[in-house]
Amino acid sequence: MEFIRDYADWFYLIGAVLFILTLRGLSGPKTAIQGNRYGMIAMAIAVLTTFFVAENPVIWMIIGAMILGGLVGIARARTVPMTQMPETVALMHSLVGLAAVLIAVAAILHNNKLLEIGADALTANNIDFHAMSKVHLFELFVGCFVGAITFTASVFAYGKLAAKKWAKTISGAWVKPVQAIIFIAMLACGFYFFSTGNMTAFWAMTALALIFGWVWIAPVGGGDMPVVVSLLNSFSGWAAAGIGFTLENNMLIVAGSLVGSSGAILSYIMCKAMNRSIINVLFGGAMGGAAAPVAGAGEQVQRNYRSGSADDAGFLMSNADSVVIVPGYGMAQGRAQNAVKELANLLKEEGVKVRFAIHPVAGRMPGHMNVLLAEADVPYEDILEMDEINSDFPATDVVLVIGANDVVNPAAKDDPSSPIYGMPILEAHKARTIMVIKRSMATGYAGLDNDLFYNDKTMMIFGDAKKVVEDMTKAINGTGH
Ligand code: NDP
Repeated sequence: MEFIRDYADWFYLIGAVLFILTLRGLSGPKTAIQGNRYGMIAMAIAVLTTFFVAENPVIWMIIGAMILGGLVGIARARTVPMTQMPETVALMHSLVGLAAVLIAVAAILHNNKLLEIGADALTANNIDFHAMSKVHLFELFVGCFVGAITFTASVFAYGKLAAKKWAKTISGAWVKPVQAIIFIAMLACGFYFFSTGNMTAFWAMTALALIFGWVWIAPVGGGDMPVVVSLLNSFSGWAAAGIGFTLENNMLIVAGSLVGSSGAILSYIMCKAMNRSIINVLFGGAMGGAAAPVAGAGEQVQRNYRSGSADDAGFLMSNADSVVIVPGYGMAQGRAQNAVKELANLLKEEGVKVRFAIHPVAGRMPGHMNVLLAEADVPYEDILEMDEINSDFPATDVVLVIGANDVVNPAAKDDPSSPIYGMPILEAHKARTIMVIKRSMATGYAGLDNDLFYNDKTMMIFGDAKKVVEDMTKAINGTGH
């Protein structure tokens, strides 16, 4: 134990290097499993070292919290369906934010901590800020408000992604001025606390930050939620780094900064993929300025479309030279990935060139489709990103869209009045034949009608994704050589 205490910084350094290797591993599907292993080892080193470094009186509290947290984590990990992963991630970010707030509060209220950092007294309403290091005050001030914003914003993102009634999108001319007032008031209280040590200002800043987190994210439209989740990931990292400074824990500073910067980079990449700026996403309201309604809320105008059976589709695909499969949220919802893989294998056996096209925001979390296809053991070389596949669509015989909607909506390219105008899409409409599996003509996440479904080249195949794909496989087997 003494040994671990003496060499704690070395253990933290090893953990930090392993965290960097984790991120490197996670950057590609082939190395992701190894990356995850590094992450697990790094986390074990971090937790054990911190455990042994801790003062005796708190050890039992740490063990209790670890057992409780571990049990909740294991139970949740075993039961959460893949489709509920994004909201689970959002909920986890909220806990990091809450932890940052509680640690800032504890560091301020805990007399020993104050004494340790030089403050002589904690009066009813003021801390002796002259004796307390300015740097510490600043860390507490920043860590606390970033954590508080992360907490309520993540809770809202969770509610929104889980379609909870209380997570309502807000809109109106009043929203931006109210956001600005709360934000400025929060900063003013924070600076007052920073310069005078006034505790009332600290509490007011925390309360305003909690409110700000909510009113900041509540106007963001559904289509922009992926960017928000990724940004909150970044925030939770910075909040953790803030805690690291407060607790003087180097490992937490490094790990928090890695999460903070990687989340910020991912947000930037996603914004680029949607042809938007981060400022526009966060302060421009929902896409195009209007709140994007959630699935099914859009008004339906009667238009003609062509529908066909799984048998027809199977026949057409088995006679094609090339098929591109575009999976979307419906494949995840219908748990159809294994059936899709079987269909792809069968088509390949029939001599068809089969590839998968992945849109960066298909599904409900970044990488959602990659994870599902990897789970079904689809070879990585068959999975192509949007930029790699888009130029191939005009020469593709059949595009099979499985439960995707917004990510193949041509309005994003053709209709300047569309709320998703400017967002890059998979250009499925350019293929020779398009087949779409979904259960109805209902809208997708952004609540928008999709011209692709009414295209002369399109055949709608209605039904649950898994059932339809299995029927297609049966049909091809029946007609196979
Ligand atoms: P969409 O939400 O646009 O469309 C999914 C379609 O799947 C629906 O139209 C639905 O139609 C159909 N569907 C649902 N369940 C089934 C089922 N069991 N079987 C067959 N079809 C089904 O999905 P996309 O993947 O195209 O686009 C993702 C959207 O989600 C984008 O707007 C994106 O911005 C947003 N988003 C993405 C996140 C991310 O990080 N990837 C996070 C949060 C939001 P029907 O009801 O008729 O069956």
